Amino acid sequence: MLQNLLLTENKLLYYWLAFFGIILSRYFIIAGGIYLLFYSLIDKFSETRKLYTKTRTRHSMRKDIKLSVISGVVFAFCAAFIMLQYDGGKTLLYSSIDKYGLWYLGVSFLIVLILQDTYFYFIHRVFHHPRLFKWMHYGHHASKEVTPWTSFAFDLPEAFIQGIFFVVIVFVLPLNFIPLIAALLTMSVWAVLNHLGIRLFNPSFPPNWLGKWFIGPTHHSLHHRKYKVHYGLYFTFWDKLLGTQDPSYNNEPRSSQQNICREETAEGSI
Ligand SMILES: [Zn+2]
Ligand SMILES: [Zn+2]
Repeated sequence: MLQNLLLTENKLLYYWLAFFGIILSRYFIIAGGIYLLFYSLIDKFSETRKLYTKTRTRHSMRKDIKLSVISGVVFAFCAAFIMLQYDGGKTLLYSSIDKYGLWYLGVSFLIVLILQDTYFYFIHRVFHHPRLFKWMHYGHHASKEVTPWTSFAFDLPEAFIQGIFFVVIVFVLPLNFIPLIAALLTMSVWAVLNHLGIRLFNPSFPPNWLGKWFIGPTHHSLHHRKYKVHYGLYFTFWDKLLGTQDPSYNNEPRSSQQNICREETAEGSI
């Protein structure tokens, strides 16, 4: 009994260490790579597309990185817990593609994104309740000049509640490792782009439907400036349905290329 407990504890520690390394590498490679690309290598492209008037500071970026590393501790624990349960045959995770067919890989991937977006929207709204905001979500909004480093900057309670999503999903949805990893990678890249702080496309850029249905840096920058709008993660669906889409987030293509911060308006481009 005691031996089993020690074995489980050792396994948990082993998994935790492995996942902490993976999560940190993922963060520094994706957030760092995109930061380097947009803020250094193609700085000229970025200059006229900046979504924040204030300049980022080293101090605020250091704070965001510190919080992201702390969040990584929690996410690694969630991942280690999932693997322990998988080893014990308790989850619905599976590795053989034949089990539900190839088509189900794509379908389950989409289901995870839709469920995660829904979960994120509602917990995000709860985090913004005045009584909860300071100790659950303040860390994510501490930097006024959002950069890719902000993408995983969460206070401990928020990191834990975010991590719970994947802990629960592996018990309720049959999921192959491929769509699970694909969903985690999609989340990582999408979260970094949402915090890019730079508009990706010109407001006049067709196809305008991108900004109409999908969240991007322009959409999420309004959340960081106004707090009371744009709570979604991937899709604009819940914001539109529940009236939290900013009225100035205009979905019509525009010819001007004004910076939304200077004009206090938002375009439908992402
Ligand atoms: Zn928020
Ligand atoms: Zn954010």
